[in-house]
Amino acid sequence: MISSSTFTVNGRRFTPPARPLAVICLDGSADEYLDAAMSRGLMPNLLKLSLNGWRGLARAAMPTFTNVNNTCIVTGVPPSVHGIGGNFFLNPENGEEVMMNSAQFLRAETIFPHAQRAGRKVAVVTAKEKLRDIFASGLIAEGGIAFSAEKASAALTATHGIDDVESLVGPTPAIYSGDASVYVLKAGVALLKAGRADFLYLSTTDYIQHKYEPAAEGALEFYAAIDAEIGRLLAAGAVVGVTADHGMNAKQLANGRPNVIFLETELTQRFGGGIRVILPITDPYVAHHGALGSFAQVHLPAGLDVAAVKEWLLQRSGITEVHERATGARLMELPADRMGDLAVASGRDTVLGRTLQWHDLRAVTNGLRSHGGRYEEIVPFLLSEPVNPNYAARASGDLRNFDIFEFTCNGGPGGR
Ligand code: ZN
Ligand code: ZN
Repeated sequence: MISSSTFTVNGRRFTPPARPLAVICLDGSADEYLDAAMSRGLMPNLLKLSLNGWRGLARAAMPTFTNVNNTCIVTGVPPSVHGIGGNFFLNPENGEEVMMNSAQFLRAETIFPHAQRAGRKVAVVTAKEKLRDIFASGLIAEGGIAFSAEKASAALTATHGIDDVESLVGPTPAIYSGDASVYVLKAGVALLKAGRADFLYLSTTDYIQHKYEPAAEGALEFYAAIDAEIGRLLAAGAVVGVTADHGMNAKQLANGRPNVIFLETELTQRFGGGIRVILPITDPYVAHHGALGSFAQVHLPAGLDVAAVKEWLLQRSGITEVHERATGARLMELPADRMGDLAVASGRDTVLGRTLQWHDLRAVTNGLRSHGGRYEEIVPFLLSEPVNPNYAARASGDLRNFDIFEFTCNGGPGGR
């Protein structure tokens, strides 16, 4: 018997149906990817899900990065509340860049320990190890499961709630592959079928989307493999919710070179030394994007006129938004104490860098697809059930990708 007890987290109420439930975050999946594969008949299960259930679009959180939005999805609140505004921030006390991929920076609880305490068997599977710490926060102690495909073989009962991932799912896949993502969904199917989980969060990686445009063979094959696993989740009786952390766009010139504004170089030439540009996309997985995304935080030395720098940046073609800290925090729902003096976003085809020397552009010699700005903000949002009138009304408003758990729990025909 699967529990349908209500629990409340961060002001949201969740009453999951007495059925297995799986929320999937398809990393970097702009709606074009689903369309390209569906229109070629390669995603029959997702097509059926859309027709029997609900398919629409939702708005992600800014900046449109993986950590930021995955944290939104698992807490149900924006970055201003959960505190993770990027992969990195500059510690104002010592001027050092701090990586924010650990639960110590979380300012809100995730829904998982609450679901586990309400009687659900929770399992969280992520492709990248970097997200596991945040997802596992408070969950393992409650008896839940959290592991990554990247480090599947390293999972231990004491720290991950499971120690036989490889015998259950298969050998650990390579992280720079589509297999790492398919493995995440396979793990979900295996855990569900083995009766070891009935409340799943499955979060993939965007290696494929950084590499391939929607209609490319490599992308189509990937989505066909994802679809087969979604079909298995549905066949096992699961309610399935699908969204993405952000979209993905080509950020290159006609000759295939990355279309980069080297912000720290340009600002230093114009305004002098002491300016620091923090790129919150920076992470250990640089083969994806060479640390180039469409968002930056700019820290200015004391005495420099913030408004003057802002006005100058707004004249630069390719830059679409520049906000001073307080305005940026409000408009982009960011934690003000982990921001620079200016928050800067660039256009659909443009990324922001620091200096030419700082980036390893060998990773992106075959073209650059990336994210981080407004143009990667609108993402797919799908539910395997028809949405009840209460939630249909909400879905027609400013639907957010981090509404997905609430919709998957409460949004179906029997939900409230
Ligand atoms: Zn992502
Ligand atoms: Zn990415």
